[in-house]
Amino acid sequence: MSGFDRVIVVDWSASKAPSPKVPSADAIWIAVQAGGQTTCTYHRTRADAMATLCAEFDAAILAGQRVLAGFDFPFGYPAGFARAVTGTSDPLALWGNLAKWIKDADDNANNRFEVAGDLNRLFPGVGPFWGCPAAIADDVLPAKGSARHGHGMTERRKIETLIASAQPCWKLYTTGSVGSQALLGIARLQGLRERYGAALSVAPFEAPDTPIVLAEVYPSLLAAEIAARQGVDEIKDRAQVRVTAQALAGVPGEQMDVMLREGDTEEGWILGVGHEDALRASLERAPVPPLKNDCFALPPGVHWTPVDKALADLRQRLGPVVGSETAPVNAALNRVLAAHVIAPRAHPPLPNTAVDGYGFAGGKAESVHDMPVIAAQMTAGRTPDFEVPSGSAVRILTGAALPGGVDTVILQEDVQRTGGRISFHGPIKAGANTRAAGEDVETGACVVSAGRRLTPADLALLSAVGVGTVSVRAPLRVGVLSTGDELVAPGSDAGPGQIYDANRPMLLGLIDRLGHVGIDLGHVNDDRTALSGRFDDAAARVDVIVTSGGASAGDEDHVSALLNASGHMALWRIAIKPGRPLALGMWQGVPVFGLPGNPVAAMVCTLVFAAPALAQMAGAGWSAPQGFDVPAGFEKRKKAGRREFLRARTRDGRVEVFQSEGSGRISGLSWAEGLVELPDDALHVRPGDPVRFIPWSGFGA
Ligand code: AMP
Ligand code: MG
Repeated sequence: MSGFDRVIVVDWSASKAPSPKVPSADAIWIAVQAGGQTTCTYHRTRADAMATLCAEFDAAILAGQRVLAGFDFPFGYPAGFARAVTGTSDPLALWGNLAKWIKDADDNANNRFEVAGDLNRLFPGVGPFWGCPAAIADDVLPAKGSARHGHGMTERRKIETLIASAQPCWKLYTTGSVGSQALLGIARLQGLRERYGAALSVAPFEAPDTPIVLAEVYPSLLAAEIAARQGVDEIKDRAQVRVTAQALAGVPGEQMDVMLREGDTEEGWILGVGHEDALRASLERAPVPPLKNDCFALPPGVHWTPVDKALADLRQRLGPVVGSETAPVNAALNRVLAAHVIAPRAHPPLPNTAVDGYGFAGGKAESVHDMPVIAAQMTAGRTPDFEVPSGSAVRILTGAALPGGVDTVILQEDVQRTGGRISFHGPIKAGANTRAAGEDVETGACVVSAGRRLTPADLALLSAVGVGTVSVRAPLRVGVLSTGDELVAPGSDAGPGQIYDANRPMLLGLIDRLGHVGIDLGHVNDDRTALSGRFDDAAARVDVIVTSGGASAGDEDHVSALLNASGHMALWRIAIKPGRPLALGMWQGVPVFGLPGNPVAAMVCTLVFAAPALAQMAGAGWSAPQGFDVPAGFEKRKKAGRREFLRARTRDGRVEVFQSEGSGRISGLSWAEGLVELPDDALHVRPGDPVRFIPWSGFGA
């Protein structure tokens, strides 16, 4: 794809000092996309970033590869600027001059404001550059844009008139400015032109037929897609370069070539404007990054991991593992939205009436109204193509747009109609019984956010603003496998020592309730070869494997043993009751949740740990259980040091718990309607004390 072997995207910075040691926003971030992998690096100085870029370019040239490097600052200025400064309209002549004038030290110290002032002196009046710290502002380089006049330059490049959110290149300082980035960036890129000579071209000023091509990019073109793909705790700048690089890398080569040749060859152009659909389609095709094999690793020496720590670790290390696809809204119920949806149209689109009645221009304070009703009438769906004269009323029906001259509607029940006139008593508030355009949703507002599992109401909202298709996540396929020599299928004959497999139907049911696709992987005996074969088969057709049984560290715990020997595994000893260690592993890149065999523990661990983790992997974000406090209808003492979950249900405003805490009592699971969660600290619950009850639905099940 794209005709390039490497695609690099740089988030540039005009900082005057090195950025913080700890990776942070508003610094330089570089994403390198090659061979289906994206690597992101953080750079404290421009000099450091340039060294990395040169290393990438050198490596590409040595390997006979092509590189596209995108930078998020303007490569040129509005038409006429280059000629005014250099005597020619060649923007690259201007690059040469800027490289001579700009001083940009290894520690980021630089003279951008002086250079901007010198450039301003070449123009009449004040400007075009503006914006700097108040202490150094003067008549030549004012702190305020409004102080400029008579410099003769237009404010925006043509490309910036197409993208309202793009900032003009004249503004050098404070929020959102790109002017300083451009001055410092162009000077640095000119250094690359000198170093790589004929091997490098700058789009769209030069034909992109070279091994290295530089282009201007604008990550905000894909704002919604970036937001949808931003990792938990990922710095936005990093997500911007990462996702933009992925999007560019996946554009078909021929289209990329067209894109690179487009635009204004004096002012410059933002790569991909007008091709947003191709960029989005490329992201939809982009493979989801695999989870790391060590994603479940635990810090050494940890003995009993508190529940909250275990949850925080899972939350941080897991990400979406499913790609996305397009679905019609009417087939998108329960699907997870892959990208934010922006309203293409306001709701309501026009001011309209909320009732059946008569519309007129309101605001008159008199108490007796008497007015003629015009012949035309307004019904829902009709275009308001006439005016209602002042002092007249129009018959109008619920949902109809207000015609010109109407801002108030009176209910038909409140008027007396005689022939062609209506009359009524009492003042009426201007605007009464009407709905303003956009009062529900304004055009451009984000109506439903990425990660949302679509409800029937969401489908109504999406449809109301005119959205016909949405980008949704592919369903998460969760394989469920039971392990243990003692298990037989329900309905078959069981020997005296055998038990029926109760976990599999329960877990498949939970997966279904959680909104995923459960895939029955059957039952396997405590036999490592058989288990390994089953894992191999499952890894090819599911996104996650959930097993029950054999997850501890004993002799017969074959799930743990196998994952330890042939996959990657961490045994999480979590301070929770019920629930023994949780075996979390990877088999051929597929995460494995090894649940305890005990049905009560298997269910509690699924709800507490697997449910939020599966939601995260499905692209729906982490789902914390929603519970509420209810007075206890029981008494209970617990020691400190572990979280306890009791099978519970509410009756008559109190929460009652199952008579036995025995972890083998499946009847208690069936009796319960949720769980009571008791905190890690010691506790003596007396009847009437508030305790946290989480109904099954609070877990999403
Ligand atoms: P394990 O974790 O394999 O040591 O199993 C713990 C307990 O759970 C044992 O009593 C098992 O017999 C029981 N068990 C394991 N798997 C299932 C299952 N699928 N259905 C019902 N009980 C099970
Ligand atoms: Mg077992």
